[in-house]
Amino acid sequence: MSSEGVVFLDRDGVINEFVLEAIRDPEQFRYYDFTANAMTKLGQLGCPVVVVTNQSAIGRGWTTESIVLQIHKKMVEDMRGWGVNVLAVNHCPHHPDDGCRCRKPDTGMFEAAAKEHQIDLVSAVMVGDSIVDMQAADTLGMKKIRVKTGRGESPLPSGLEVDAHLRNLSAAVDWIESWLQD
Ligand SMILES: [Mg+2]
Ligand SMILES: [Zn+2]
Repeated sequence: MSSEGVVFLDRDGVINEFVLEAIRDPEQFRYYDFTANAMTKLGQLGCPVVVVTNQSAIGRGWTTESIVLQIHKKMVEDMRGWGVNVLAVNHCPHHPDDGCRCRKPDTGMFEAAAKEHQIDLVSAVMVGDSIVDMQAADTLGMKKIRVKTGRGESPLPSGLEVDAHLRNLSAAVDWIESWLQD
């Protein structure tokens, strides 16, 4: 299929409840009450999904890579159970001071997925709660949907505009459905 309609999702504050000072163990990873229905609809729309998530809790020593991978293994199983075509879950493990190319607002996680799966990023959409999600998508020329869950109510820097600022992932999927029909 064409790469149009690939949906990039941030994790914390979009798919699962935002936790101040980071999710450090699997028990803290909790879906929103709308997540299952929103994911099911995304699966029905046929949109392949890539998850891109900053997990500096690893670099800060608050959790470990193996715990994050354990959380992602379960998340991918759940998403596939909801009928979602999960292409990749890419995380940045680095500390903000490490100067890596993957930590959002940098674009390395997006570019890695695009290269591996031949995704045309200009035809893809990013759903995120944080400013850095929107900045990365803006750099890449992607569609930008900001959700109001998680960190989604903080003011955007001047000059950064999003295509939609919506209640949550469920509303974002409804927006994507309309966008695909255009
Ligand atoms: Mg987030
Ligand atoms: Zn990184």
